[in-house]
Amino acid sequence: MATAPQALTIPTVQPSTPEPFACVGCGAHRPTRRPVLHADPNRRPFDLIRCKNCGLVQQHPRDAAGRLAALYDPNYYVFNESHPRRWARAVQQYVVHCLPRESRRPKRLLDVGCALGHFAALARRRGWRVVGLDLSPQAVSRAAVDFALDVRAGTLAQHRTTLPPFDLVFLGDVIEHVPDPARLLQEVRAVLAPGGTLCIDTPNWSGHWRRIGRSRWLGLNRYHVNLFDAASLTALLTRCGFVDIQTGSYTHYRYQTWAHRPEIQGPLRRLPDFLAWRVNRFFSGILRHNHWSTLLTTPPATLEEAHRRVSTLSHQPPPNTTKHTADNLIANAGRSTFTRQESL
Ligand SMILES: [Zn+2]
Repeated sequence: MATAPQALTIPTVQPSTPEPFACVGCGAHRPTRRPVLHADPNRRPFDLIRCKNCGLVQQHPRDAAGRLAALYDPNYYVFNESHPRRWARAVQQYVVHCLPRESRRPKRLLDVGCALGHFAALARRRGWRVVGLDLSPQAVSRAAVDFALDVRAGTLAQHRTTLPPFDLVFLGDVIEHVPDPARLLQEVRAVLAPGGTLCIDTPNWSGHWRRIGRSRWLGLNRYHVNLFDAASLTALLTRCGFVDIQTGSYTHYRYQTWAHRPEIQGPLRRLPDFLAWRVNRFFSGILRHNHWSTLLTTPPATLEEAHRRVSTLSHQPPPNTTKHTADNLIANAGRSTFTRQESL
């Protein structure tokens, strides 16, 4: 969900490309007549089209899977974040998705798209039996060395048959990246234990700041090829055999002040430097005091600090995630009663 400052060389999609639109969510051939957003060569070198049938906003024409995978080289922006920021994000996502599902019985958790392993390490510290997957061999290698995690390089499709059933599968900042989100969800369903839960965290196309920021919205970058709102995500989960679907939203801890908002920083750059600095200092002083404030002001520096921060937050009422207008869309769902063999 952070901004993506790197300038990779990817040619802009040509509007005359003859490939017909087929929605990656529902398969319908009903695109909006014009893109909901045109390509921006610096940030997002492809148009975004909305499916009239299910509402999913998506890259079109879509790059081949191999070409998308090639984006996740060591320059991928997520890999350049500091450790405290990673721990802060891991704490936030853990509290939103996993804290309500902790139990005394050791439960299995699969972290798809585990990156450098901070979330997976925190989940294991909290008592889960964790497996992590990531496309990047470099990221997996670092996660294995730094945290001695059971992490594997590759896709869920490549590893599915060797994995045990999981009580919780976490797709945090993942489904917006993948070339075939329906296929991914079917793979997830196949590794979910009976009674297990899938938890999804993804940019929210129907968030307030997407409407205000338009092309400056923080959810827009070259890596995000699918953008969901609650309705389109629910439709896709239903189509893929999930039941008991609940959706909500929350705001990334970094954006508890407006000082970091890309939607605002763009216009601020037109001001003289001293004035922009004063405006940002003013915004920094207006910090929303909630569950996430201290993650921004004093992020955890280590795994143990992150673990203690979760323990502290566990004594507070849970964060309110019931509205659908914040930046991060969340969904949780169970699997229907198809057998594992029937599901793929
Ligand atoms: Zn569709």
